[in-house]
Amino acid sequence: MQTYKAPLRDMRFVLHELHGDTKITDLPGCADFTPELIDSILEEAGKVAEEVLLPLNASGDEEGCQYENGVVRAPKGLKDAYHTFREGGWTGIACDPQYGGQGLAQSVAMLVFEMFNSANMAFSIYALLNNGAYEAIEAHGSDEQKNLYLPKLTDGAWTGTMCLTEPHCGSDLGILRSKAVPQDDGTYRISGTKLFISAGEHDLAENIVHLVLARLPDAPPGVKGISMFIVPKFLPTSDGGVGPRNGVVCASIEHKMGIKANATAQLVFEDAKGWMIGRPHKGMSAMFTMMNAARLGVGMQGVGIGEVAYQSAVAYAKDRIQGRALSGAKDPSKAADPIIVHPDVRRMLLTMRAYNEGCRALGAWVSRMLDIAHRSPDPERRQEAEDFVELMTPIVKALFTDLAMESANMAVQVYGGHGYVRDHGMEQLVRDCRVLPIYEGANGIQALDLVGRKLPAHAGRSLRRFFHPVAAFIEENRNHPVLGKMVEGYEKAFGALQLATAHIATKGLSDPEEAGAAASEYLRLFGLVALGYVWARSAKLALEKTAGSEAGFYQAKLQTARFYLERILPQAGSLWFAIKSGKDAMMSFNDAAF
Ligand SMILES: Cc1cc2nc3c(=O)[nH]c(=O)nc-3n(C[C@H](O)[C@H](O)[C@H](O)COP(=O)(O)OP(=O)(O)OC[C@H]3O[C@@H](n4cnc5c(N)ncnc54)[C@H](O)[C@@H]3O)c2cc1C
Repeated sequence: MQTYKAPLRDMRFVLHELHGDTKITDLPGCADFTPELIDSILEEAGKVAEEVLLPLNASGDEEGCQYENGVVRAPKGLKDAYHTFREGGWTGIACDPQYGGQGLAQSVAMLVFEMFNSANMAFSIYALLNNGAYEAIEAHGSDEQKNLYLPKLTDGAWTGTMCLTEPHCGSDLGILRSKAVPQDDGTYRISGTKLFISAGEHDLAENIVHLVLARLPDAPPGVKGISMFIVPKFLPTSDGGVGPRNGVVCASIEHKMGIKANATAQLVFEDAKGWMIGRPHKGMSAMFTMMNAARLGVGMQGVGIGEVAYQSAVAYAKDRIQGRALSGAKDPSKAADPIIVHPDVRRMLLTMRAYNEGCRALGAWVSRMLDIAHRSPDPERRQEAEDFVELMTPIVKALFTDLAMESANMAVQVYGGHGYVRDHGMEQLVRDCRVLPIYEGANGIQALDLVGRKLPAHAGRSLRRFFHPVAAFIEENRNHPVLGKMVEGYEKAFGALQLATAHIATKGLSDPEEAGAAASEYLRLFGLVALGYVWARSAKLALEKTAGSEAGFYQAKLQTARFYLERILPQAGSLWFAIKSGKDAMMSFNDAAF
């Protein structure tokens, strides 16, 4: 079984100290969310994660979802856990109080969600999809649709799905074929097959609200001809109850690598009754509302997995004895020293720790900006925050999930053969985590989004939302007596990012394949530099408090910052060299020779 204790102290650090300059209580609708209240919400969420969800993680993986004649049963214990989850109001923590939610800021909800993911990622996907469906209907639905569906999704009585993928179309949604035929009563008849639909069928809730992408008969080809529809599993009655079954059938569930307690369903829509959300042919923009929130959520799933991988690996490394410390025996009374004495094991543990805390800090910054973008009364601030969130969304999704995979792999490595076998749950983390770089837009597609859309957006205005504060921080701290050396190294990495950005902007303009060839390395470079910034800022804060009552926490923060900046961030230089070399090494390779 995995080892996990909610990392509440670090969460308080990122929420109240690192990003405390914009107070959550100052956000409209958040006046009641004082630091004390937020801390108690985090504490309660930590208890649910540790006591309710974690004990079901291994058994849910072992048993998996069961499919029989179109019916899917979740593994033992999940139904009760879901009931507890609903009773605690966790399904609606970030939803509007108007629909029964608690109106919690996203920057806090993301951390709550991280803990649930650490404890049980398969279970948490039910909640992730609910949020996505909620946000799409809230942003694009009619008042009637909002009043019917949002209270049900908030309360968790009904769950949501997002139905994009079809057997022949995944990344390229422009070629999707599902059809929607208008009816005289204003509804639509939806037909088509949707593949890989998370939580597409299950027995946790009384109804499932599918959000389906399909084409109208007069739709133009490509992504400009896609509309979005609400297609409930059971048709709602006039009083919001559950009526007759709609024409959607679960044909099968996938036999897959991980997240086995979450059914990945193949759904067949046969003249199912649906209602359009938003305007005809504008389904992609409605779906993007859902996907952007979901992409940040997927990034935080990565942090969740990284955290449980790290904590488990630390516990094992302190306990497992093998070999002697290179500097001489540390515990001569035992046959060998614990493996935590070995430099290579420490390298892995510190790498995981630096990834997790760095990603949590960056994720909290992005989600704080998301709160400002949604809630600030000042249009200029809203715009600035929106630019920043748009820029960082592909980075959060792709970088955090790539690093999570590295962390899960390192946890297996720390356990050695005991990580490869099932007993300790480390191989489950690798299997569960593996989908994160694939779904919600494969990471290669995120990289293309970054170089193709986000860099040139608003003539570079989005980019400046990140570059300006970083340049100011470097300027301000270059001669700092203690931080100065760290800042010097950081400035080199930032310089590599600036050079790479200029390179892609000029080369990519004349040859899009050059931008495509550089995209994944560029996203990693950008992401590592962004983590470097939150680490440098964390170090500065920690430095002021290393003599206080929590010296241990701040000392560890400072040392982890140093590890990140000295041992991980120098990768920025090699990434820049790879980017600079251009597309030729890969694109000149003859297809037939592969
Ligand atoms: C467990 C699981 C759950 C899922 N849940 C859902 C869900 O709830 N709803 C839903 O709609 N879908 C869901 N999906 C589908 C998922 O979003 C897709 O698998 C994903 O979008 C990739 O599509 P694909 O599998 O068809 O791969 P493809 O699109 O065929 O891509 C294959 C590879 O080619 C690369 N590639 C493709 N096009 C390009 C390009 N233009 N440039 C560069 N590289 C490219 C990709 O990056 C990828 O590495 C789920 C998938 C899984 C495995």
